[in-house]
Amino acid sequence: HLDRIDAVDGTVHAFLHVAADAALASAALVDDSIAAGTAPASPLAGVPLALKDVFTTSDMPTTAGSRILEGWRPPYDATVTSRLRAAGVTILGKTNMDEFAMGSSTEYSAYGVTHNPWDTTRVPGGSGGGSAAALAAFEAPLAIGTDTGGSIRQPAAFTGTVGVKPTYGGVSRYGLIACASSLDQGGPCARTVLDTALLHEVIGGYDPLDSTSIDAPVPSVVAAAREGANGDLSGLRVGVVRELTGEGYQPGVQASFDAALRQLEKLGAEVVEVSCPHFEYGLAAYYLILPSEVSSNLARFDAMRYGLRVSEGASAEAVMAATREAGFGPEVKRRIILGTYALSSGYYDAYYGQAQKVRTLISRDFAAAFGRADVLVSPATPTTAFPIGDKVDDPLAMYLNDLATIPTNLAGTAAMSVPSGLSDGLPVGLQIMAPALGEAVMYRVAAAYE
Ligand code: GLN
Repeated sequence: HLDRIDAVDGTVHAFLHVAADAALASAALVDDSIAAGTAPASPLAGVPLALKDVFTTSDMPTTAGSRILEGWRPPYDATVTSRLRAAGVTILGKTNMDEFAMGSSTEYSAYGVTHNPWDTTRVPGGSGGGSAAALAAFEAPLAIGTDTGGSIRQPAAFTGTVGVKPTYGGVSRYGLIACASSLDQGGPCARTVLDTALLHEVIGGYDPLDSTSIDAPVPSVVAAAREGANGDLSGLRVGVVRELTGEGYQPGVQASFDAALRQLEKLGAEVVEVSCPHFEYGLAAYYLILPSEVSSNLARFDAMRYGLRVSEGASAEAVMAATREAGFGPEVKRRIILGTYALSSGYYDAYYGQAQKVRTLISRDFAAAFGRADVLVSPATPTTAFPIGDKVDDPLAMYLNDLATIPTNLAGTAAMSVPSGLSDGLPVGLQIMAPALGEAVMYRVAAAYE
C-alpha cells in the first residue's frame, strides 16, 4: 500500500501525511507478535488504514484540513486511534478533508483538493474525500471518516465505496476535533460491506471519555453482514422515503435507485412507500444548528492554545483576530458568522430555537417510518461526482449535496451508503437508513444488496 501511495497519490492527493516508518514498524510488531503467539485477537491486525485528519494522533500531525492547526502535534490519541492501535491496525497516514469537516467536495481543505480516482477532473465528495479516494485508488483497504451531515456517505457514494454513519454515540468522539458536537459521528469506510463491519466493531462501543457515548454493546454487525451475504431478505420491509426521490435527483441517480428497489424485491424484501413530511426542512435546520455549534466550538482556536499564532498588534485581541483571519478559510468564516448571528440575543428563538423544533419533528418522522419499515432507502446523493471548481463559489449549491443525508444526523440514527452501479461511468450510492442502534439490520440489507 505504501508503494501504491507512492505511485498514485501525487495525482489523487488523498493523504496529507504518510507515516511510512511508523506504519512499517507497526506492521513488523504485528508480525513479531504472530510469531510469538501473542497477536491481537482482531482479524484486522496488520491491515493498513487511512485515518481522516480530524482524529488526534500522538505520533503524527493533526490539522483538520486547516491552516490554523498547521504543525500541531496532539499530545494524545483519540479513542478511535487507540482502539485501532490496540487491534493491531496499521495506520498509514492522515487523509485530506474540508477544513474542520465543513464542505462536500474536499475543495475547502487548506492543503489542496483531492481528486476522484474514477475521473481526476472531479471531486471525491466531502468532507472526507481523502479517506474515500484512498479506498477507491487502492491506497488503503480501510479508512475512517466522520459524518456530521453526510461526510462519510456522500464521499462513499461519489467513489463507489462503502461508508457507514453509526448511531450518534456509537463511536467515541474523544479526540475527534469538533465540528458540530450534537451531530458529529466517526465511522468506518471500506470497499466491501464485511470489511466495513469488521472495522465498525474495532472502533465502536462505549467510551467513558465521551459523555454522549452510548453505554450499550455494539450490535454484532459482522454477524449481520455475514447473514446478509446469503442474499435472502424475505420478511424484511424496505421503506422508500417519498420526499427523498424525484425532483432534484439526477435522472441517472434516480434510474439506479429504481433498479436497486427491483433488486431488493428480488432478494425477497417487501418495498413500501413511506412519507417523512418534515425532511424538506432538514437542510435549513441543519445549516442553522451546525453553524451555531461551530461558532462556539471554534472559539478555542484563539492563537493561545494551539497551532498558528500571528503576532500582530499590541493586544491579545489583536493577535487573536489576526490569527483567525489568517488561519481560517472562507467557508469556516462564513459558518462562524452565520452561527454567531443565529445565536445572538433576539434572534435565538427565531432561528436556533425553530431549528431545534424541526429537529424533533424529523425524529418523529423517522419513528413513524420505522414503524412501517425495518430500513429506509433513498439515493445517497442527488447527483454523481461533480467537476472540481463547479460549486466551490456557490455555497447553496454545495449545501444541496446533503439533501438526503442530513435527516439522519439530525435524528441521531444510523445510515450508510453502499455502491449501486454507475451512471455515465460514475459511481452512484444507495443509502440505507436504520433506527438508532439498528445497525445490524442495515448491514444485513447492505450485504445482501452488494
Ligand atoms: N456537507 C456537510 C457540511 O458541509 C458535511 C458535514 C460533515 O458531515 N462533516 O456541513
